[in-house]
Amino acid sequence: MHELSLAGGILRVVEDAAARERFRRVAQLHLEAGALSGVDLHALRFALEAIAPGSLLEGAEIRIDAPPGSAWCLACGTTVEIQSRADPCPLCGGHQLQPTGGTELRVVDLIVHDTNEAPRSGPEAQPAPRGGSSGPAEPDPPEPAQPPAAASQPP
Ligand SMILES: [Zn+2]
Repeated sequence: MHELSLAGGILRVVEDAAARERFRRVAQLHLEAGALSGVDLHALRFALEAIAPGSLLEGAEIRIDAPPGSAWCLACGTTVEIQSRADPCPLCGGHQLQPTGGTELRVVDLIVHDTNEAPRSGPEAQPAPRGGSSGPAEPDPPEPAQPPAAASQPP
C-alpha cells in the first residue's frame, strides 16, 4: 500500500527531528498533502495511526491539510487552479499544464512534548485517546475531489 510507505517516510522524518532536537513524544503532527500529490488522505491517516503505537507518534494528533493544486497553462500564459493532474485548464480547456503547486507531501510542523518545557499546543488540544484505531475526534480538513486512479504518481 502506497500510503503505508509514505507514512513510514514521515515517521523517519519525525525520528530524525527527534534525534536532532531531543524530544520523545509528538503532540501534533501537521502535514500538508497537496491536491496534486496523489496522496489519499484517508489512507495516509489510517497508515499513520497503524504505525503510531510504540513510536514517537503514539498519541499524536494528526492534522493533514490539503492545499489546492495550481498549474501554469502554456496556452493562457497564467496560473490556474486544478484539482487533479488529469484536469484540463479551467480557462481554455487545454492540457499543456505544468503543475506548480499542491504537488507535495510534506511535514509542516511538529508540536512536541519535551522534557524541558510544556507542549506548545493549541487551546483546543486534548490528550489523544489511547489504543483505538479510530483516533481522536477532530475536524477533518476539507477533502479535495479524489484524483482518478489513473492520475500520475507523486514525484
Ligand atoms: Zn489555459
